[in-house]
Amino acid sequence: MDYDVIIIGAGPGGIYSAYELCKTRPDLKVAVFEAGQELHKRHCPIDGDRITKCIGCSSCSIMSGFGGAGAFSDGKYNITNDFGGTLYEHIGRTKAIELMKYVDSINLENGGEGCKLYSTAGTSLKKTCMQNKLRLLEASVRHLGTDINYIVLDNLYNRMKDTVDFHFMTGIEELEVIDGGYRVSYAGGSATCRQCIVSVGRSGSKWMEGVCDRLGIASKSNRVDIGVRVELPAVIFSNLTDELYESKIVYRTEKFEDNVRTFCMNPHGIVVTENTNGIITVNGHSYEARDKQTDNTNFALLVAKHFSEPFKDSNGYGESIARLSNMLGGGVIVQRFGDLVRGRRSNEKRIAEGTVHPTLNATPGDLSLVLPKRILDGIIEMIYALDKIAPGTANDDTLLYGVEVKFYNMEVTVDENLETQYPGLYIIGDGSGVTHSLSHASASGVYVARRILAQSEV
Ligand SMILES: Cc1cc2nc3c(=O)[nH]c(=O)nc-3n(C[C@H](O)[C@H](O)[C@H](O)COP(=O)(O)OP(=O)(O)OC[C@H]3O[C@@H](n4cnc5c(N)ncnc54)[C@H](O)[C@@H]3O)c2cc1C
Repeated sequence: MDYDVIIIGAGPGGIYSAYELCKTRPDLKVAVFEAGQELHKRHCPIDGDRITKCIGCSSCSIMSGFGGAGAFSDGKYNITNDFGGTLYEHIGRTKAIELMKYVDSINLENGGEGCKLYSTAGTSLKKTCMQNKLRLLEASVRHLGTDINYIVLDNLYNRMKDTVDFHFMTGIEELEVIDGGYRVSYAGGSATCRQCIVSVGRSGSKWMEGVCDRLGIASKSNRVDIGVRVELPAVIFSNLTDELYESKIVYRTEKFEDNVRTFCMNPHGIVVTENTNGIITVNGHSYEARDKQTDNTNFALLVAKHFSEPFKDSNGYGESIARLSNMLGGGVIVQRFGDLVRGRRSNEKRIAEGTVHPTLNATPGDLSLVLPKRILDGIIEMIYALDKIAPGTANDDTLLYGVEVKFYNMEVTVDENLETQYPGLYIIGDGSGVTHSLSHASASGVYVARRILAQSEV
């Protein structure tokens, strides 16, 4: 065999498995194959000046490369079992939290020291939320910020690069089961290993589906989250963000009894586009450094859609809605809340006259032509509910960007070791459908690395 362990994908899942393996057993032969660039070469061409919109690069620097989808993220490591994935269903709640805390300690050792840990424990906001039909989920969150997150990743890479073989711009095309291990093939070559960790994240979801089909690994897909990204003056949300940084708040709509939730809150942040398999959706992040902060806060409002038989293609449903917004707006659409509730589209003039200055150059339009009524009604209801705990949320000038879609990878059948029916073939991180966050994906990487280390026959 060429390697003891091959890891496919250098996102947080892959990085933390590699880190744990090489820290404990530097003698092991470990390789990481990554479809995207190394960290320093990752660069999104959108400069807000000459290039203002996504040009569909063959390898999206936001989603792919060392650091994975998390590299330019806000670096919010949420330590909780309440959201971010269902890792605890496989490894237990106590173990999951223990590993998330361990990942946090590695981040602190590698440049994250001094970054604040926010917590919902003991906050009076919980009561305020309850009094207004909102539910605040429990969590501790370490906010690294996009800048410190980058430094941590750079340090982790430097610590591993002499021990681990990194192959960048090397997307794995085929994964085969061979006698005593696995073979991975890429354009122009192949490599073999005894154990293989697959950590391909969301950008690898289609590839993962193909692997599951070919190897007969069972999977199920039934969820997609659809909604908008809200942008408003940071001061409006400061009572929440100053204390908690990120608050995950859930609202149950009166009309349809759907759950709408806040997601990925970025105080003083910017709104960005995201390219998933050629579909442009919206996202957001923020910097820890003051000089890079804006006057706005952004967060997503998402409605989870679960489908039952016979419909199986929940991601296809989300994609169709995102494609519709891409068709109408050439990318992401932005609309003032006041225009939405008055049933009229936003235009350049109304946006320019508004008091909230958009941090993303999106096309003014009408989100009611894109989002299904049930989802849109839920979002509007929630904005009015949030207005009670953060007055001003429902102001006319509040901006809504659409669409934000959280695609969930189909959930792959893995056991309590995150191992498939093939001994030594592990599927972790967001690519497994088990995790949906930096901390859960990273923890799953450490978990599997420790399992491999515990086996004597590596
Ligand atoms: C803009 C943005 C902001 C975010 N902010 C946060 C946040 O603040 N907090 C949070 O918890 N989560 C956040 N997330 C989500 C978080 O980034 C992911 O949950 C996390 O990165 C998942 O880690 P992963 O290792 O499972 O997958 P990924 O990070 O997606 O990494 C997978 C890697 O595999 C590579 N790959 C895919 N297919 C192949 C193949 N066939 N061969 C080789 N390589 C392949 C990809 O190029 C990629 O680099 C954010 C995501 C985005 C896009």
